Amino acid sequence: MKKGKKLYEGKAKIIFATNDKNLIIQHFKDDATAFNNQKKSIIDGKGILNNRISEHILNNLNQIGINNHLVKRINMREQLVRLVKVIPIEFVVRNIATGSLTKRLGIEEGTILNEPLIEYYFKNDDLGDPLISREHILNFEWLDVVSLDWINKECKRINYFLQGMFRAINIKLVDFKIEFGKTNENKIILADEISPDTCRLWDVVSEKKLDKDRFRKDLGNVMQAYQE
Ligand code: UDP
Repeated sequence: MKKGKKLYEGKAKIIFATNDKNLIIQHFKDDATAFNNQKKSIIDGKGILNNRISEHILNNLNQIGINNHLVKRINMREQLVRLVKVIPIEFVVRNIATGSLTKRLGIEEGTILNEPLIEYYFKNDDLGDPLISREHILNFEWLDVVSLDWINKECKRINYFLQGMFRAINIKLVDFKIEFGKTNENKIILADEISPDTCRLWDVVSEKKLDKDRFRKDLGNVMQAYQE
């Protein structure tokens, strides 16, 4: 597989072309950003860990039939992935109330939700990724109803699987964000990454935060937490 030119540089990743038009290389950077890019830093080695963690999770999801863009990890910082057209929606799944849910609705921090809650955010940095409803998605034809219902089910399957996977290593999956994309054959698959940058992960006993909140809230030892 030959690495081609840089196609896109985002906040935490760079995308390169390859000699196969259906495949791209996803490079994980050490850059950390929060609060819609207002807080920025470099965390040495974060990209290497996120590459490995996301590879592990996406491979495991693939084994239970959750199709996703990962082909294989190529090296410490890069993965070969399928090219998709990313659907401009962030799907957030929550098991425990924290973050924007507590701020927006005054739900008490740490409340265990009656059932997993799926939220939709419009992917647009200029607008600060606003919360949207199912009706926005259908009205603006970002997805048709069959695809949206299918993605909702997929979000729940992913949540149940990841909850169990993390529970087995004494970590609570509090919430996470995922993205989906359409392949050339118009098939919807899971894309992007699943890592401590995109999940909230708490130690079962101590509730120590093992995710990007260590950076957002200046709690220190970000790398140690990601390694754990
Ligand atoms: N999240 C993410 N990218 C974003 C926004 C949120 O990966 O652009 C993740 C975040 O890490 C958390 C979950 O989605 O696991 C819910 O985040 P929340 O809405 O509480 O946002 P925040 O408190 O980070 O503003």
